[in-house]
Amino acid sequence: MPNGPLSTKLFDLAKQYIPGGVNSPVRAFRNVGGDPFFVKRAKGCRIYDVDDRCMIDYVGTWGPAILGHAPIPVIEAIHNAAKEGVSFGIPNLYEVEMARTICEWVPSIQKVRMVSSGTEATMSAIRLARGFTGRERLVKFDGCYHGHSDSLLVAAGSGALTHGNPDSAGVPKAFAELTSVLPFNDEAALEELFEKQGHEIACVIVEPYPANAGLILPKPGFLQKLRDITAKHGALLIFDEVMTGFRLARGGVQELEKITPDLTCLGKVIGGGLPVGAFGGRADIMDKLAPVGPVYQAGTLSGSPVALAAGLAQLRELEKKNGYALLENLGQIMEDAVLEVLKKKGLNYRWYRRGSMFCLFFTEKEVHNLQDAKTSDLAAFRKFFHHCLDNGVYFAPSQFETGFISMAHSRDDLEQTAEVAAAALAAL
Ligand code: PMP
Repeated sequence: MPNGPLSTKLFDLAKQYIPGGVNSPVRAFRNVGGDPFFVKRAKGCRIYDVDDRCMIDYVGTWGPAILGHAPIPVIEAIHNAAKEGVSFGIPNLYEVEMARTICEWVPSIQKVRMVSSGTEATMSAIRLARGFTGRERLVKFDGCYHGHSDSLLVAAGSGALTHGNPDSAGVPKAFAELTSVLPFNDEAALEELFEKQGHEIACVIVEPYPANAGLILPKPGFLQKLRDITAKHGALLIFDEVMTGFRLARGGVQELEKITPDLTCLGKVIGGGLPVGAFGGRADIMDKLAPVGPVYQAGTLSGSPVALAAGLAQLRELEKKNGYALLENLGQIMEDAVLEVLKKKGLNYRWYRRGSMFCLFFTEKEVHNLQDAKTSDLAAFRKFFHHCLDNGVYFAPSQFETGFISMAHSRDDLEQTAEVAAAALAAL
C-alpha cells in the first residue's frame, strides 16, 4: 500500500529543508524501502498518521513509551511542572527526587548526573572513565550502539549499522584508533585484547543485552567475565542501559544478571518521552566530575524540571501498576503466539525476548553476535515489515532493532498482531 497523500506531501516538503527529510536517519525507512509516514497523534499503543491511518505500535518512540503513548499521569505531571516554569538553570526539586529514585532503584549507582540524551550520557561516562583512570583506550562491541559521539561511532549498531555506516565519516582517525572493537560474547577475543593492551584500557562499554542489532543475549558467564577482567586490569566497566534501564526491571539488566558495573548510562524510559539521559555509579568515580573534580561536563537544560517531572511520573506509575510483572505477562503472550505461528508455518526463525523487549531474526542460525544477526534474510524481513504496516501493525523499520511492548498493549492487541504477523509470514 502506498503512503497516504498527506504523508507523501509532507515528506517531499521535509526533504527540501531537512537532510533526508528526517531528524534521525532510521526514520527514513531506507532499510525497508518506501517512505516514512508522518504521525498526527498517538495514544496508548496506537499511532495515527496524518492520513488518519491507525497502527498498533511496537516502536514506542524507540523505547521511552513504556506506559504507552500520552499516558495521563505523565501528561498531567508535564502540565503541572510547566505551569511553574519550564527551565531555570538553577537547582530544582525534581533533580533531587530523580537522583534519589535512581540511586534507590539501581544499587550500583551511588551518585548520578542528569543530561539530555543517551548520547550525552555515554559520551560523558567515557570521558569520566578516561579522567578517572588516566588511560585513553576504550573497548566496545561490534553492533552495540552508544549514541553518536566520535569515540563511540565505531562499528556502531542501530541507524549507523543499517545505513551502511557503522563507522561514520567525520570521526577523526585518532579517535577511532583509541576504540577497540570486539565481537559480543567472545571471551577469547576479550582475553587476548586485555593480555596485550590491558594497561591502556580505561573502560569497557557494553549494552548488557545488545538491542541495537536486533536483540542479542549474553551467553552465561560473559557479563561476569567482563566484570572480572576489567577489575583485574584496573579498567572501568560501563553498562549502557539507555535501552534496558527501567524497562526490564527496577534495577535494569544489572539486577537481572547480578553484575555490578562501575558506571551506568540511562535514558529513554527515565524521561517519559522527553529528552533525558543520566549517568551514574561509584561515588569515588562520580566525584571526579566538575565542580568537585577535574572532569568537565555541563548542560544548559540538564535536570529540566518538565522532563524530570515526566520521568518521575512514569516511574511512579510503573511502580504503582506493578509494571514489570505486567510487561512480562504481555511479553509471554506475544512469545507464545509468535512461536505457535512459526511452528505452524514450519519456520525456524530465531526469536529472542526479555520482558517487553523482543526480536524475530529472519535466520535459522542462533544469534550470539552481530555477525550471526547479519545472516538474516533482509528481503524477507522487508516484505514482512510492509505487510504488517499495510495491515495496521508498526514494527521497527529494520531487522537490526528491538521491538517494545508497552503497558497499554492489551491481550487483544497482541492477538490481533499475531494474526497479522501470521498472514505476513504466510505471504513471504
Ligand atoms: N545507548 C543505547 C543503548 C541506545 O539504544 C541509544 C539510542 N537508541 C543511545 C545510547 C543514544 O541515545 P540518544 O538517542 O538519546 O542519544
